[in-house]
Amino acid sequence: MHSKVVIIGSGPAAHTAAVYLSRAELKPVLYEGMLANGIAAGGQLTTTTDVENYPGFPGGIGGSELMDAMRAQSERFGTKIISETIEKVDLSSRPFKLWPEYTDEPVTASAIIIATGASARRLHLPGEAKYWQNGISACAVCDGAVPIFRQKPLVVIGGGDSAAEEAMFLAKYGSHVTVLVRGAKLRASKTMAKRLLAHPKVTVRYNTVATEVTGEPEDRGLMTGLRLRDVVSGAEEDMRANGLFYAVGHDPATAMFKGVVDMDAESYIVTKPGTSYTNVEGVFAAGDVQDKRYRQAITSAGSGCIAALEAEKFLAEAEDEDVEDGMEGENQAAKGAGGEEYRSNPLL
Ligand SMILES: Cc1cc2nc3c(=O)[nH]c(=O)nc-3n(C[C@H](O)[C@H](O)[C@H](O)COP(=O)(O)OP(=O)(O)OC[C@H]3O[C@@H](n4cnc5c(N)ncnc54)[C@H](O)[C@@H]3O)c2cc1C
Repeated sequence: MHSKVVIIGSGPAAHTAAVYLSRAELKPVLYEGMLANGIAAGGQLTTTTDVENYPGFPGGIGGSELMDAMRAQSERFGTKIISETIEKVDLSSRPFKLWPEYTDEPVTASAIIIATGASARRLHLPGEAKYWQNGISACAVCDGAVPIFRQKPLVVIGGGDSAAEEAMFLAKYGSHVTVLVRGAKLRASKTMAKRLLAHPKVTVRYNTVATEVTGEPEDRGLMTGLRLRDVVSGAEEDMRANGLFYAVGHDPATAMFKGVVDMDAESYIVTKPGTSYTNVEGVFAAGDVQDKRYRQAITSAGSGCIAALEAEKFLAEAEDEDVEDGMEGENQAAKGAGGEEYRSNPLL
């Protein structure tokens, strides 16, 4: 099967790209994954309850409900959604080849949008599964303003820039924020560390790890505390805390692109600033897979739009070249089986 454009992923970036490309009549095919990267189709938002910062929903909206709506919108304009995970790609020549899981025969595409996202690292502490989203979060910007954290003692785990940023952000809402650092010093940049240490509502505890999350015993009970251990002395103590925020990093889902698509030291795809262009012509990246800074649904959706417009421009130019070359070469495939025309976005 050949498609003009294949989207890999199913979060806000993938579905925004799908809406734009299907409305441009490019008949995108979207592989939404089958528990790809350990997350259900729909991406990270399917692991949360209320999303309160996505514009258009003044009363908030459930994470899964929002993703269901995005999926329905992609389908409405003709996106073909396939519930399979792409396992392997060959980007060495066009058309690109992609292998869905459990298949030997590749599908091909003239352009690819990588929107495979990332997953927040967890510590898998005892009590974590019970209090996840009932006090435990991996995103201060997403969840910090929720009423259960207001004027309550909060804890951030991590010693890097993200931990510092999250702690200072949370200090707006909580009564106090304790940052637990496993080692003897912060890994955050000097400026960030200085600001954090000077913050009147933040305490940094070094050589300290959390060993258990405790809380209300009932079904949807909230967390109320943490068990801590001093890694030097081995001393243990209980601490009151109504919120626990992990800032221990994210893992972008990029393994199958290693060595071909340029990545940074943390395996995030590198895109040309302000665009979705990767180092491989015809391969675009959008969403958290290429963004380790903002990591929000709305920024992912925005970059999905950029990727769609840039893929559309790329396909239109490939078609122009084919016309000039008398329709020779593989890009003929970009015209689709029926040889139908499509219109480039007039803005680009
Ligand atoms: C608990 C939690 C709460 C959050 N709350 C908010 C919030 O309130 N507001 C906000 O703006 N942001 C929030 N975020 C962040 C937000 O979810 C992400 O920024 C956003 O989902 C990233 O979107 P994305 O399009 O990059 O893809 P993701 O949401 O990361 O999804 C990508 C998906 O693509 C699929 N996939 C991966 N690999 C493959 C493959 N090989 N083949 C096929 N499919 C594949 C998987 O299903 C994967 O999960 C939250 C995140 C978490 C973890």
